[in-house]
Amino acid sequence: MSNNSQEILETYRKSIMPTYAPSIALSSGRGVTVRDVDGLILYDFTSGIGIHNVGHSNPKVVKAVQDQAAQLMHSSNLFVNEPSTRLAAKLVQLSGLGGKVFFCNSGAEANEAAIKLARKWGNANGGRYEIVTMRQGFHGRTLATVTATGQGWCQDGYDPLPVGFVYADFNDIESVKAAVNEKTVAIMLEAVQGEGGVMPASEEFMRGVRALCDEKNLLMICDEVQSGMGRTGTWFAWQGYDIKPDLFTLAKSLAGGIPMGALVSNERFADVFTPSSHASTFGGNPVAAAAALAVIDIIESDGLLAKATELGTLLMEALKAEVDKYDKLLEVRGKGLMIGLVVDGEAKPIVQALQDQGLLALTAGPNVVRFLPPLVLKQEDLEEAVDMISDALDCVYGDEEGSED
Ligand SMILES: *Cc1c(COP(=O)(O)O)cnc(C)c1O
Repeated sequence: MSNNSQEILETYRKSIMPTYAPSIALSSGRGVTVRDVDGLILYDFTSGIGIHNVGHSNPKVVKAVQDQAAQLMHSSNLFVNEPSTRLAAKLVQLSGLGGKVFFCNSGAEANEAAIKLARKWGNANGGRYEIVTMRQGFHGRTLATVTATGQGWCQDGYDPLPVGFVYADFNDIESVKAAVNEKTVAIMLEAVQGEGGVMPASEEFMRGVRALCDEKNLLMICDEVQSGMGRTGTWFAWQGYDIKPDLFTLAKSLAGGIPMGALVSNERFADVFTPSSHASTFGGNPVAAAAALAVIDIIESDGLLAKATELGTLLMEALKAEVDKYDKLLEVRGKGLMIGLVVDGEAKPIVQALQDQGLLALTAGPNVVRFLPPLVLKQEDLEEAVDMISDALDCVYGDEEGSED
């Protein structure tokens, strides 16, 4: 490791609170690759954790940001800015829910808004406030969203946690039914769980949750923070199912690398928030909105929804071939270009071996390797990446059981 990396990482360790443990310092990104401060080029199959669906520094997004920054960088919500209104109308149109949008700055904040909206409506409709969420789900790191996240590892040490959350098992409708009571106001879930291990909901489960919400007068809230904006082959992952949620949330890839979150409602819940009942100073920031409009434009003009499905199928097939080779690889699952490789044991050594080959990937829980490549991936990039994956797996497992070849 050269001086550049070492110096930056040393300053990082001295000056930034150690909530992460990075080992690479990046200086630039373009399309599906990033470059570190020493000039090493790597395939980014993390997309900056699900951010760069249209690739790093997509020229159209860069131009939109530059133009808007020169025009009006912030308006506050005391005044309207045009890009945010156009973006809201577009998101409502893409969703087909006929409702309205609340803008904020992150996934946690978008989910926080969904939780607050559900409570505001529920408290006024039968004194209901409890929200059922899924074990292995993930909804963010604020106190409310970390409580909505039914996983101990991100709650430990933060007692007392807010009240009003109960957990059920994902893909088990009976467990969800058992968690619902007279205080329940909403069921919140990811159509494809990300952090929890890249686990898609089953058709029956999504339909079952929708039917339960209809029967008990509950809001169905889909967290699309990771799965949204084309990642799974539809604009929003719930659109891959035969249901419509009442609310859904977006962030990560929404504005192509500029922080932005959004809560989208259907018509029924569009006016639950009223003046001063909820707010965000930066929410609907015109630069972020201009970036998001560019992201949507690129997804449409480059046919990225279809590409996510096509390339996702190719990557899954390639990974399945690896699963057939090694006993330690158990399963490939996911949707579109949101893909998990399930390992018997620790996923981290594989992620490290991939990095050594020149490909950045993620873990999702202790035993899943997660691939979230940019949707602008070209077939030749994918082929090269597949070779790297194959070589990395050979490095990790080759000696143990790769004797077939
Ligand atoms: C990342 C993520 C969040 C949190 O988003 P932040 O922008 O980090 O607050 C919430 N839900 C899901 C499904 C996520 O993947």
